Formats: sequence, structure tokens, C-alpha cells
Amino acid sequence: MTPAEIAAFAPPADHLAGRVILVTGATKGIGRALALGLGQHGATVILSGRSVKKLEKVYDELIAAGCPTPAMLPLDLENALATHYDAVAEAIGHEFGRLDGLVHNASLLLTRSPISHYDVPTWCRLLQVNLTATFALTQVCLPLLEKSTDASVIMTSSGVAQRGRAYWGAYAVSKAGIENLAEVLADEYESNPCIRFNTLNPGAVRTDMRALAYPAEDALQLKTPAEILGAYLWLLGPASRGHSGGRYHCQVG
Ligand code: NDP
Repeated sequence: MTPAEIAAFAPPADHLAGRVILVTGATKGIGRALALGLGQHGATVILSGRSVKKLEKVYDELIAAGCPTPAMLPLDLENALATHYDAVAEAIGHEFGRLDGLVHNASLLLTRSPISHYDVPTWCRLLQVNLTATFALTQVCLPLLEKSTDASVIMTSSGVAQRGRAYWGAYAVSKAGIENLAEVLADEYESNPCIRFNTLNPGAVRTDMRALAYPAEDALQLKTPAEILGAYLWLLGPASRGHSGGRYHCQVG
């Protein structure tokens, strides 16, 4: 399929039936829309986020939309310790016995500034949430992903991953890091056709994070999260089997 066809992918409603997919940052923005989109295509979604109250709201939305009953997995990626990650893997293993999809969507942007003035604690927080937590969660989930017959891991990237841009500091560095992490994993699992690792750049999307980065732009000109889900659905479903180590885009052209 061409990149444009992948971005426009519109599968039938049972496309992800029977699959168990974990989405981080499922409380708002792209993560919330993705959770709903996955549920509406038959997946059992494990909703992860740092606020139980917000997770419950999305949980209720999935139930109201007639999706398979989701699960909730509270996890603060900024403060999670090894024991928390182990508990996550144990809970998923106990409930489902495997994992068919893992979408690393949660991310922080915080303030942007030149490196000469970049605040060190901000740097550490961003790398922790955007990069180190992605590594840690993937690592504990690998045994569960290995139990799936067709597992897909997505790292959510950004336009600043490929080429660093002034003032994007730790956010740009963290996104470049997860692109590399996905490639390392794809290479390590090259001989296992049952697991794939790819990165996906949503492009400009109407969310709180985008508004923080571009406060002066007309958000109504941007696509909504629900409008950019085609590539996610392709990467998480059977059609992308065998495609690993790639860099994909939700918006093409
Ligand atoms: P939002 O800011 O709308 O949502 C970010 C999500 O990450 C929220 O669910 C938030 O939870 C969660 N999160 C933040 N910190 C933590 C934490 N410590 N622990 C757990 N969850 C946390 O962002 P978007 O929806 O715009 O972004 C989604 C992804 O897409 C990100 O990876 C982003 O980098 C990427 N992206 C977005 C673009 C855009 O234009 N929107 C462009 C390119 C990439 P909470 O609700 O609690 O705040």
C-alpha cells in the first residue's frame, strides 16, 4: 500500500476483533480518539493514563458506543517505578494472557525554549515520560506481546524527530530517541514475524498539545484526532503483518 492509502485506511467494523490493545495517554486528544476508534473496530482496549477519573470517563464512552468492555490501567509515566511496571504486566497477563497491540501515545511537551536556557528538571521530566517510560513499558510487555500471534507496537513520533528544530529541546530529542528505539526493537525481533515495531507521526492535530505549541494558529483548520486514525488501524491490524522498523505518517501530502 502507498503511504496515502495507509493514511486513508478505512477497515470494516470487525477489523480488530479479538485483539487486546493497550493505549497510553488514553484520557484525551489522540489517545482518547484512538481508544474509541479501536473499540469501534472490535478491539478490547486497555486504557492507560495518570488520572483514574479521566480514564473512567473514556471507559464510559467506550461502553456507551457499544465497544467491547475495556480495561483501565492507571499509570503515571513520570513517577512509575519498576514495581509499578511489573504490576502492569502481571495485571495484563492475569486478565488477558497476552497483548496484541501497544500504542505509546502519552507524551509531554511543556514549555519550549532554547537549549542555552533549557530548564534541567523539565529536560528530565520530558525524557522520562516520552522516552524512558516507553522503553520500560515495552520491556515489561515483551513477554505478553510474544504470546500473541500478531502483535504490533507503535511509538508515536513527531515531525521534529527526523530533524531537530530550534526550541523543541527535550521533546525533539525524546521523539528521535523513540524512533531509534523502535528500530532497535525491530532489528532484535527481525526473525520473529509475529511482532512488529513501527513509529507513527500524527502530523498536526487539533489537541491540547498542539494548542500549547502553536497558540496563535486557527485550530479549526487542523484535523481532529478522530480524522487521522487510518494509519493506526492499519498498523494494529492484520494487513501490516511483516512490516516492522518503518516510519509511518497519519497525514500524507
Ligand atoms: P495531549 O496533550 O492532548 O495528550 C497527551 C496525553 O498524554 C494525555 O492523555 C496525558 O494525560 C498523557 N500524559 C501526559 N503525561 C503523562 C504521564 N506522566 N503519565 C501518563 N500519561 C501522561 O497530546 P496529543 O493527543 O496531541 O498527543 C498524542 C501523541 O501524539 C503524543 O505522543 C504527541 O507527542 C504526538 N504528536 C501530536 C501532535 C499534534 O499535533 N497533536 C503532532 C505530533 C505528534 P492527562 O490527560 O492526564 O494530561
